[in-house]
Amino acid sequence: MKHIQIEEKAFCTGCGACTNTCPKHCISFEEDAEGFSYPKVDESLCVECGKCIAVCPVQKEKPADLPLDNIKVFACVNKDKKVLKESSSGGIFTLLAEKIIKKGGVVYGSAFDNQWNVCHVGVDTLEGLEKFRGSKYVQSQMGDSYSQAKAFLEQGRPVLFSGTPCQIAGFNRFLGKEYPHLVTCDFICTGVPNPKAFRAYREHYAKRWKEPITGIAFRDKQYGWDSFSMVIRGKTKQYRKVRFFDPFIQAFYSHLLLRPACYHCQFKKYNSGSDIKLADYWYVKRVHPEIYHRDGVSLVMMGTAKGQALFDSVAPEMEKVESSMKNVFQTNASFETIVKEPPSRKEYLHTICHTDSTEDIVHCIKKLAKQPLKNQLVAKLRFYKQQLFARK
Ligand SMILES: Cc1cc2nc3c(=O)[nH]c(=O)nc-3n(C[C@H](O)[C@H](O)[C@H](O)COP(=O)(O)OP(=O)(O)OC[C@H]3O[C@@H](n4cnc5c(N)ncnc54)[C@H](O)[C@@H]3O)c2cc1C
Repeated sequence: MKHIQIEEKAFCTGCGACTNTCPKHCISFEEDAEGFSYPKVDESLCVECGKCIAVCPVQKEKPADLPLDNIKVFACVNKDKKVLKESSSGGIFTLLAEKIIKKGGVVYGSAFDNQWNVCHVGVDTLEGLEKFRGSKYVQSQMGDSYSQAKAFLEQGRPVLFSGTPCQIAGFNRFLGKEYPHLVTCDFICTGVPNPKAFRAYREHYAKRWKEPITGIAFRDKQYGWDSFSMVIRGKTKQYRKVRFFDPFIQAFYSHLLLRPACYHCQFKKYNSGSDIKLADYWYVKRVHPEIYHRDGVSLVMMGTAKGQALFDSVAPEMEKVESSMKNVFQTNASFETIVKEPPSRKEYLHTICHTDSTEDIVHCIKKLAKQPLKNQLVAKLRFYKQQLFARK
């Protein structure tokens, strides 16, 4: 068989390099019972050229890590208070993206479509960047974004392409060569949650309220960055829960909802080939208290000279403090640690794979994400302490 065939789901990240590469356009993505999408080949059209196999970033040897000693690390905060508030951490992604748009370029990132599904799109206006702000804790569907971005690069237009480390690794393999006007940006990633589970979660509220969803924020900062909230808005109703108490965020944090490949991630540390890597600078108060901001601080790592040049060009528009790789290891476990499947995932899989009932899926997530009473009390105390001592 000379085309891609997913026998072991644990190794397909769903990056979309195969679909975007196929010269016959005969590979589509289909959602499985669990809710993640995998490539499916229309064999009547396939000419067995083998390009889809060659381009797959996880069928090859695991890529080598960048030598970490050479990586520059900063703690940064965007000076634009509105953008900072709307972003997940320190709002640095928007700063990088604005620069590319002002140079006549195109920025690719993850946005909600009009059905509240999460997918990759390209944007070439400053106003358009708003839709990228904020982490969406759902796997983003790549569609033909790789092919679109390549077409712009071939025309000589600057492109900033953002995504998870596996999406950036897929994009680099799809391109197969260096483009001087391309900058890629990924982030430290725990893993990507299930689109079917989130569909059920939001539909649960739409049904209960009998009105359509009008807004979703996974990282609302009304109570600050440390105590971000999940917010779902209807026309007249609103759901808001601080992260410690929202079942979907808790299920994400307990690693219940992730794509099978996330439990075998090949793109930890720094081997995605991205030019810049972003993250939340959790625990920044301990290592660089002088830059702590209630609305968030970004951890920024420069993988290449191109990344460094883009970062330097926007440096006047941010507060920044130089940090170190040692601090990255000490404050952000997801940088190197691959998450493990929790034992409760068996029960979760049994439900999600066997029903499309919104209520059954939400009931299962709520049940499995429920924390023991002691943890709930600790979370409550942590929240009240954060609110009491919130400064700046
Ligand atoms: C699924 C997921 C897991 C993450 N895990 C961690 C973690 O373990 N540790 C950590 O420190 N940081 C993690 N992050 C990254 C972090 O939350 C911020 O996105 C990052 O610090 C950039 O923040 P910002 O304020 O600069 O910009 P923001 O404006 O908040 O960032 C938006 C950027 O994230 C991209 N994005 C948003 N949702 C998705 C998605 N579903 N798929 C692909 N790209 C997306 C947008 O395209 C844009 O490039 C995760 C993000 C996501 C989406």
